[in-house]
Amino acid sequence: MKNFVRFLPLLVSLSASAQSTADAIIARELQTSRAYETLGHITDDIGARLTGSQGAAKAVRWTTQQFREWGMPVTNEPVMVPHWVRGREEARLVSPADHNIVLTAIGGSVATPAAGITADVIEVDSFDELKTLGAAKLRGKIVFYNNPMDMELVRTHRAFEAYRIAVAFRGAGASRAAEYGAKAVVIRSVGSASLRTPHTGALRYDPKQPKIPAAAMTAEDAMLVHRLLARGKRVRMHMILTPRTLPDVMSANVIAEIRGSEKPEEIVLIGAHLDSWDLATGAIDDGSGVAMVMETMRLLKEMKLTPRRTIRAVLFMNEENGSRGGQQYAKDHGKDKHVAAIETDAGGAAPTGFTTSIKGDTLTALETRTKPLAAVSANRFEVAAEVGADIDPLTQAGVPSFGLVPEPLHYFDYHHTNADTLDKVDPKELAQDTAAIAALAWILAE
Ligand SMILES: [Zn+2]
Repeated sequence: MKNFVRFLPLLVSLSASAQSTADAIIARELQTSRAYETLGHITDDIGARLTGSQGAAKAVRWTTQQFREWGMPVTNEPVMVPHWVRGREEARLVSPADHNIVLTAIGGSVATPAAGITADVIEVDSFDELKTLGAAKLRGKIVFYNNPMDMELVRTHRAFEAYRIAVAFRGAGASRAAEYGAKAVVIRSVGSASLRTPHTGALRYDPKQPKIPAAAMTAEDAMLVHRLLARGKRVRMHMILTPRTLPDVMSANVIAEIRGSEKPEEIVLIGAHLDSWDLATGAIDDGSGVAMVMETMRLLKEMKLTPRRTIRAVLFMNEENGSRGGQQYAKDHGKDKHVAAIETDAGGAAPTGFTTSIKGDTLTALETRTKPLAAVSANRFEVAAEVGADIDPLTQAGVPSFGLVPEPLHYFDYHHTNADTLDKVDPKELAQDTAAIAALAWILAE
């Protein structure tokens, strides 16, 4: 007890100095941020970074070299990744009138036959409806899942909840329809806005079912097809998709560290994913996250700050269509002593706080130490079961986990479309996000 009492003032002063350093980190980032410059390289100079592509390989090289230039140890840890390549994607209605249909293949989709598919379109809005219609009605047809995101949830800052509900049809829709003999599926794009922009994303084929082609139409085209069917018209669609799945290739997670001064074996992880979809340059998903993580490391280095514990930056490969990077990291580093993990994969709009896996007294104790985050309105913590896909294996293993929550209102307007470009990110908001991550990482590492 005597020892503890003697030690107590030290603890208090450590925590007070951690907070004043966090204040300084936030102030410095807001004044001198280079996060947007980094994001410009990742998006404009490197381009789209779909797993297995030249862009993804370039991103591994450039980020590695950048960490090295900033003066920190960096490694590339090998990850075998899928290599899916988009091809042509065209569709028209051939009945009741000639309409161009704007769609995009869902990531992982197989191709149509070379001449395409021409078939009647049948609309459903649930998996139960497939069962009701049965093979008699669905065999040989193009099944159309018409499930818009719940805009009431989007407007009330629960866009991720709306996304999780609607995305079920993108992920499992093809195999569920294949079970009843459908020839192909089209979904209404999962997004909260559309200027006739289709939203891609990944699907998962059930190995027990035949693989059928799957695409996402724009909201406008989905509404057209819906109106025609509602008027009792026979809707026939012709569609050609020519994607290919090539053999897996070797890629890498990029890992950089600022070693802790007192407990270097204890790790605070900050992570984002380096890959993007191929339709655009992945500025909001997840170039902005990568920029925040890199900028945090640059900033701490520039401020000559050495935390007591190690801060480890991990740029994960293949979050979008396989999560192989996250799985590989958990396999290689599951035994490392992670004291916390922070993921940023929800865009680059102004910060609103963090989701977290910790609760109760632990969370309350943390909240007393994270007051500096109020300077960038990031001091709100919301308990969630999953805070980030790449760190999920760590979260499930009990590592206290955090996910940055930038304002989600417009995230799914651009998500996975050809409009996910640098202009969608505001440099000031990106700096605020980075300040939030850097300050939280610092506090956790002290
Ligand atoms: Zn993402």
